Amino acid sequence: MSETTETIFSKIIRKEIPADIVYEDDLCLAFKDIHPQAPVHLLLIPKKPIPKLAEATSEDHALMGHLLLIAKRIADEAGLSNGFRLVINNGDDGGQTVDHLHLHILGGRHMKWPPG
Ligand code: AMP
Repeated sequence: MSETTETIFSKIIRKEIPADIVYEDDLCLAFKDIHPQAPVHLLLIPKKPIPKLAEATSEDHALMGHLLLIAKRIADEAGLSNGFRLVINNGDDGGQTVDHLHLHILGGRHMKWPPG
């Protein structure tokens, strides 16, 4: 695993910079994306600073399952009963810009396929 780095998301977890938080528990935090790409665009992050999905290990098995189930709950609470999309960008080719694992929860419009 690469050395974990401090990111803007670490500061959001520690409440050192503001974010519009919609969900929090001991393991994860969800907040509104600052540059929304859909009417609903939330980010769900583990509090553990895993830089990207490719660096998650078998130790993170339960945490990964937790994130998916919480993403479903957050989508439900955001009123996305007509559907939603989860996105994890991983690494340069994946378009990842913040080196702290995050799930994008997107909804409120019809999503296109394939993504760009
Ligand atoms: P990615 O490109 O998958 O790494 O996604 C990073 C996301 O973080 C982008 O959609 C940004 O708009 C979002 N973002 C960056 N800084 C902040 C911030 N301070 N608060 C909320 N969202 C942010």
